[in-house]
Amino acid sequence: MRWWKTRHRHHNFVGVVSLDMTVDPTAHLARRELVLLGTGGKPKWLKFACPCRCGEIIALNLMGSYSPRWSVQQDSAGSISVSPSVDSTTCGAHFFIRHNRVEWC
Ligand SMILES: [Zn+2]
Repeated sequence: MRWWKTRHRHHNFVGVVSLDMTVDPTAHLARRELVLLGTGGKPKWLKFACPCRCGEIIALNLMGSYSPRWSVQQDSAGSISVSPSVDSTTCGAHFFIRHNRVEWC
């Protein structure tokens, strides 16, 4: 990875929002929020702008019936941790999300 990319990548998300699948999450993604998209209060996708600033929107599947699947844990403060790690196939970013923070691999 080029040095300028490493220098400018983000190390945290500003918050978490839960939205219904029918809502357009673009504005939230642009603000660097982690967006839980679901129906009936049950999250199905976690979407966020790639923290390397490549502009890619990453969508992680949270539904048990599809693979690959990620699990999200929300702590008492409302911030979330994601497992396993996130590996972007488009930009090569590889990182963990723990308590809304990006931990680069
Ligand atoms: Zn990226």
